[in-house]
Amino acid sequence: MSSTRKLEILYYTPYFRETICEAIGFAPKLAEDLCVITQDHDRLKDADAVVFHIPNFKEFPQEKRPGQLWVAMSMESDVNYPLQVDPEFMRNFDITMNYRLSSDVPMLYFHPHQIAQLASAPKPKTRSAPAVYFASNNLARNNRYELVGELMKHMPVDSYGKSQNNCNLESLDTGRQSKLDTIGSYLFYFAFENSSSIDYVSEKMYDGLIAGTVPVYLGAPNIDQYLPGENCIIKAEDFPTAADLAKHLLALAQDKDAYESYLSWKKLPLKKNFLDLIKIEETPPIRRLCAKISEHPRFKGTSEMVGTAVESIAPINERQFHAFENVDSCPLCNSLSFKFCLKPDIWRCHQCRVMFRNPRPTQQEIIRSYETGLTYAQWQKETNIREILWRERVGIVSRHMSSGKLLDIGTGDGFFLSLLGTRYDISSTEISTAGALYANQRGFSPRIGDFLELDYTDESFDVITLWHVLEHVLQPGRLLRKIHKVLKTNGILALAVPNEQHSLIFNAWQEMPLGKLEYGQEIHVTHFLPGVLKNYLKKNGFDLLEFGVDDVHVERPFRTKLLFHASKCLNSNIGWHCDKAMYLVARKHP
Ligand SMILES: [Zn+2]
Repeated sequence: MSSTRKLEILYYTPYFRETICEAIGFAPKLAEDLCVITQDHDRLKDADAVVFHIPNFKEFPQEKRPGQLWVAMSMESDVNYPLQVDPEFMRNFDITMNYRLSSDVPMLYFHPHQIAQLASAPKPKTRSAPAVYFASNNLARNNRYELVGELMKHMPVDSYGKSQNNCNLESLDTGRQSKLDTIGSYLFYFAFENSSSIDYVSEKMYDGLIAGTVPVYLGAPNIDQYLPGENCIIKAEDFPTAADLAKHLLALAQDKDAYESYLSWKKLPLKKNFLDLIKIEETPPIRRLCAKISEHPRFKGTSEMVGTAVESIAPINERQFHAFENVDSCPLCNSLSFKFCLKPDIWRCHQCRVMFRNPRPTQQEIIRSYETGLTYAQWQKETNIREILWRERVGIVSRHMSSGKLLDIGTGDGFFLSLLGTRYDISSTEISTAGALYANQRGFSPRIGDFLELDYTDESFDVITLWHVLEHVLQPGRLLRKIHKVLKTNGILALAVPNEQHSLIFNAWQEMPLGKLEYGQEIHVTHFLPGVLKNYLKKNGFDLLEFGVDDVHVERPFRTKLLFHASKCLNSNIGWHCDKAMYLVARKHP
């Protein structure tokens, strides 16, 4: 394709009752130097990209030209539009643009030009009721409606919207400004989202902050990532009942200093991670979409592919990894001495003897593949059998530490956490929002991100669990060293990884060269033999307490069961272990 030709983008669906041109950041003039926008369905064959607003989606066009990219756009919550996280449906698209930070073109409900408004001084609080609420409908996929009803029983609340209305605007309604003026004259604003979904932070909370009141927030479990200052909101979920929340708000209303402390962030510089986050919006979404299209691997080099052939759409689970990196030091011990060991791409460290893939996909690629949600969707179909596997692991942990502060790294769909009961004070992390969504549905809010990048206080956990995580991470050595720091002395580490003795015996790697790995497949970048892992832990401040066969058999024909029990027996009697996976419990040295 000629570098001077502009992209042609077809806005295929409406945007609610308007056109996509009217959506914020999608006006054609914002990117007229980069693309031509059309809404003419007759241009379907020629368009470089086709944008679908998912809440307006009815059906797909019959054809997709080779090299053409389909774009799924939406600012609505996945909870309200479950199609958006349905892997079967989403595999039709090449580019996602939505409120998820993990999407290809993330979009926020906050624009950098509003920064100045955040700093505006709070208005006098002139109302007799301490709290205000605005909602246009009763429908919500969280307990918003019930929560407001309960709060109204325990404290005065002025509600101006159509939902649970008990109040009307006194002055002429001029839209957003009258709403902000009204909100600003109350001590508290109930900023309750219509659903609680990761990254789904609508304008509600920002309205409260701009208006100079204290938002009481219900919604995104990772709201902390979106806050411009410290101590600027009150989270409804921090209170066990509506009565407790009302009691707290009424007490603050009587204590001027305590209340003012929630507004003092306005006088301080805004948080750096917030400023970094909103930089995304400095470039309008349509311009960022143009950039994504131009650099997309399926789009590049398609200049000759004009014609009307229907391209078979590559399902997500047939999308291959395309960004690889070379390994420059041993992922476990950092040694610079390692050599090629097994076809097709397995290398071995001279020092610690660990085996690893080289080259390997980049971290970003690995995360993108998790974000398809395919793995987690599959797990949900295997709940009965997976419960047996997870209960086994709960048993392993509780044998060594039956209560205390527990951190589960890479919790995935949160199934393990849901079986722990109330004995532990539970924290968790998860690198993919797709996994964390399932954990959310089980009532857990993992911190989203790479454990290595998240802050934890030294010596703060009694138990850390790491179930089938170590083989997926690019820096397993760094991960284990950080775990050692964060564990209390005598704290317990319980982990499971595939046992590569099994892969060596069954020659499993040859069948799966990394270069042919597809999204949705499990990617193991580091391979552990029992001795290698045991030695590494011993040398790095742990005492080994227990070692055994980890049950990972999701399919359980009689033969598998028999072999599994045989290998358990072998392991406990002669310490020889050849089943698919192993677990290990270790204690941090005093
Ligand atoms: Zn090494």
